[in-house]
Parts: sequence; C-alpha cells; structure tokens
Amino acid sequence: MIVKAQQIGKIYRNGPLRVEALRDLSLEIAEGEIIALMGPSGCGKTTLLNCLSGLDTIDAGDIYIRGDNLRDLSERERTNYRAQHMGFIFQDFNLLPVLSAIENVELPLLVTKVPRKQARQRAMEMLATVGLSARARHRPAELSGGQRQRVTIARALVNNPDLVWADEPTGNLDSETAGEIMDLLLQLNHERHQTFVIVTHAQEIGMLAHRVIHMRDGKITFL
Ligand code: ADP
Ligand code: ADP
Repeated sequence: MIVKAQQIGKIYRNGPLRVEALRDLSLEIAEGEIIALMGPSGCGKTTLLNCLSGLDTIDAGDIYIRGDNLRDLSERERTNYRAQHMGFIFQDFNLLPVLSAIENVELPLLVTKVPRKQARQRAMEMLATVGLSARARHRPAELSGGQRQRVTIARALVNNPDLVWADEPTGNLDSETAGEIMDLLLQLNHERHQTFVIVTHAQEIGMLAHRVIHMRDGKITFL
C-alpha cells in the first residue's frame, strides 16, 4: 500500500468553535490506483487530502506513506518527502504570473537543485507530454484555462512523483476540456504507474477513476 490511514481524526479549533472535519476514517490506497474522492461541499475532502499528503497534521490515528508513519517525520522531513515524491494539482492553478510556462514547470526542479540545463530539458519534455510545446514562452495570462491547467499538471509531474494529489483539477474548466485533462491523467497513470488521488465533483471523473471513495460528514460512506 502506498497510503494507509488508520482511524484518523481532524478537528479545526477557532476559539470556542470546533469543527470535526475527519472522524475515525480509515482507508488504503494501492500503488498505481486512480482514486476519485467525492462528496458534498464541506464533508472533509480537502482536509483529507491535506492530511494524507502531510500538508496538515491529524489529531488522532495514523497515516503511513509506504510504511512510514507521517507522525515520525519532522516538518522538514515531510517537506522534503513531498518535494521528492509527491505532486500537487490545484484548481486555481497557482502558477506564477510573471514566469512563462516553461519557467513555471522547471521551478520544482530548480528547487530540488537539478542543474539548470537539465531542468530546462526535462521541463520541455514535460510540456511536450501535456501537448503544450508551442506555448512554452507564454505567460499564464496568455493561455486558456485548459492550457493553464496543463501547465499546472506539467509542473506537478516534472519531478516524476509516485503520488499525485489533485484538488478539483477540472473545477474551472468546461466539461470537454475537463474530459481532455482527465484523459491526460489516465495516460500519465498508464505510462508512469503513478498513483492519483483526485478530489472532484465531476461525475465523468468518477466514472473514469479506478475507484470512487464517497465521503460524508468527515467519514467514508459505502453506497
Ligand atoms: P470539502 O473539501 O469536502 O469541501 P473541507 O475539508 O474543506 O471540505 O472542510 C471540512 C469541514 O472543515 C467543513 O465543515 C469546513 O467548514 C471545515 N474547515 C475546513 N478548513 C477549516 C479551517 N481552516 N478552520 C476551520 N474549519 C475548517
Ligand atoms: P473546497 O475544498 O470545497 O473547494 P475550501 O477548501 O476553500 O473549498 O473551503 C471548504 C470549506 O472550509 C468552506 O466551507 C469554507 O468556508 C471552510 N473554510 C476554509 N477555510 C476556513 C477557515 N480558515 N476557517 C473556517 N472555515 C474555513
């Protein structure tokens, strides 16, 4: 199992207010799976993604990534682990507006100290994989929504991560473009055997995923 969560709990505390966002939740994700995480707004999908990826901490239970308990890693070790083994795709793109597509894509490589020339070459290959070679010099504002999301995906995957977390990756896109993005994720999963966990409201993504996990009120529900 690449990811294993055992009876995890997460509580947000804002002064006297407590929100139990995850309750006694357990799940296992096998290597190479594409999981769609679905459920009503506020049920805890984003929280689960943040906790499983180690971006946020849990209040109860254990999370294991490839057998390593996240609890045993320091903040710094978790950050390094994410940089080396995980990719993140968010809905609002998070691209740096002053950088071109190619510069955005090579950023994670430069951060992990890949030499400049090699980084440029790998970023170009990754842009080609997502079908955007012709737009390498364009800034995000000069690209369509679907093109921007392809840049985001290229940036998330350029380090060849084992595990990719995506939060509403097609949320801002029309259904045709969303279908193209999902086809791209399926192709990458097939070629590289990467594991994808995708938070989504889109039925078409749920239908294409290997497995759908439904959530409600901080728990997994079984239909
Ligand atoms: P989803 O992604 O399914 O829409 P979230 O994981 O974002 O759900 O939220 C789960 C619950 O936790 C919701 O009730 C939400 O209001 C609450 N929540 C999320 N983030 C915070 C936060 N930073 N502080 C307090 N409550 C939060
Ligand atoms: P979603 O994951 O559904 O796309 P968000 O993660 O932005 O949306 O927020 C999910 C829910 O968490 C919303 O209901 C929002 O009001 C709530 N939320 C997010 N951050 C906070 C916070 N800091 N304090 C309280 N509630 C929050």
